Amino acid sequence: MTVTRFAPSPTGYIHIGNLRTALMNYLIARKNGGQFILRLDDTDPERSKQEYADAIMEDLEWLGLTWDRLEKQSDRLDRYNQAADELREMGRFYECFETPTELDLKRKKQLNMGKPPVYDRAGLALSEEEKAALRAERGDGVWRFKLDHERITWTDGILGDMSIDAASVSDPVLIRADGQFLYTLASVCDDVDFGITNVVRGSDHVTNTATQIQIINALGGTVPEFAHHSLLTGPQGEALSKRLGTLALRDLREAGIEPMALLSLMARLGSSQPVELRTSMEELIEGFDLATFGAAPTKFDPEDLKPLSAQVNHARPFAEVKDEVLALGVPADQAEAFWNVVRENITVKADMAEWWTLFRDGATPLVDDEDREFIAQAFDLLPQPPYTDATWKEWTTAVKDATGRKGKGLFMPLRKAVTGRERGPDMSSVMPLLQVAPKL
Ligand code: GLU
Repeated sequence: MTVTRFAPSPTGYIHIGNLRTALMNYLIARKNGGQFILRLDDTDPERSKQEYADAIMEDLEWLGLTWDRLEKQSDRLDRYNQAADELREMGRFYECFETPTELDLKRKKQLNMGKPPVYDRAGLALSEEEKAALRAERGDGVWRFKLDHERITWTDGILGDMSIDAASVSDPVLIRADGQFLYTLASVCDDVDFGITNVVRGSDHVTNTATQIQIINALGGTVPEFAHHSLLTGPQGEALSKRLGTLALRDLREAGIEPMALLSLMARLGSSQPVELRTSMEELIEGFDLATFGAAPTKFDPEDLKPLSAQVNHARPFAEVKDEVLALGVPADQAEAFWNVVRENITVKADMAEWWTLFRDGATPLVDDEDREFIAQAFDLLPQPPYTDATWKEWTTAVKDATGRKGKGLFMPLRKAVTGRERGPDMSSVMPLLQVAPKL
C-alpha cells in the first residue's frame, strides 16, 4: 500500500512552500488508495509549540487535506534511542567534541586550501581516555553517523537518476550535545516504522536524502521512493524565503483566497500541465502526475490566486453563501438575487460587502462634468424604490425620450452615476436591489 507523509515542524505557521509538499504527498496517497500521515517533527522542545501544531491541523483541514493518522516525534524518543544504540553497536556512530567555533575554523581552513568543507572525522580517532577527558571538560559530545564513502544513488521521482559521493558530505550529526535527536535520524526511524513508500519534499533535502538512505540501509529498513520538488521563487525568480512569512496559509485564508484556488494552483505550478481551476478534490487527485513536474525553480506569484478565487466565486451556488449574505443585512427575499448579481463581480467573498453597502446606502455617483445636467435630469425621472427588473428599461427609455441620448452615451453615464463604477453587473438586475434612489 502507498503510504506518504507530510512532516512539518510545529515551530511556525505553514506557508505556501509547505503546502506544495503537503499536497503532493496527499495526492499521491489518495491517487493510489493509500494512506496519508501527518507527522509532527517536534523533537525540538524549545521551538515546538502546541499552538503551531493546532494551527497546522487547522490549515490542512481548511484545505481539505485530511490525514489518516497523526504521529508526533516527541512520542517516539525511546525508538530513536534504540536506533542510536543499534548504530553504536554497528560502529556507525561516534561522538565528537568540537565547539562550533572550532568547526568553523576547520571549515575555513579547508575552503582556503580549496577543499570541500567536509567534517574531518577527528572524533573518530579519539581514544576512550581522550573522550572521557573531553567529556569531563566540555560535557557530552554530539553523535555523528559514519557514512560509507561510496556513491549513493537513487532514482528521484522528479530529478531522475541521482548520484552523490558520500565523501563529499559531512557525517551528519544525529544527536545534539544536549541529547536532542535530530530530524535526520528521527525521520528515518519513522519512515521505516510507518512503512512510508513515497517521500516528496523540497530539493533543499537532497543531501539529507543521500545520508538518510545510508541510515535506512544501516537500520535494515526499506528505502522509500524519493522525489524532490523545486523550491518556489517570487515572480521575478527572486528567493521567496524572506516573503514566506507573509505567505502563511492562514494569511491567504484571511485574505479570502479560496481553498480550491490554492490547491488548483499548487497541484500544477511547476508541472507541464496547465493551471486550471478544479472544482473538487477528486478532480485534483485524478489529474495529478508527479512525473510532469520539472526540476527548475518554480515561480510563484500570489496574484495568480486572485483570478482563480474569483472563478470559484463566479460559480458558487447561493446555498453556500446564504448565511453570509443574510449576515450582511440583505433582506431575505432579495438575498439570492443579490448573490447572483455580485458573484460575477467579486474576487474574494468579502468583496460582496462593498456591493451591499452600495445598494443599501447608494453609491457616490461617478459623473463627468459634461454629464452633470444630464444626470440631474435623469435622476428626476426615476421614481423612489422599490424597483423591479423592468425599472432600468423603463427609466432609460424615459431618459432617452427626454434627452435624445442613446446607446453608450445614454447607458454608461447612468451606470456610473448609479453604481459609482464603470463596470459591474447587468443594470436591469442591479436596479431591484437598490434600497434608496440614487442622488447627486
Ligand atoms: N520536518 C522536515 C521539514 O519540515 C521534514 C522534511 C521531510 O519531509 O522529511 O523540513
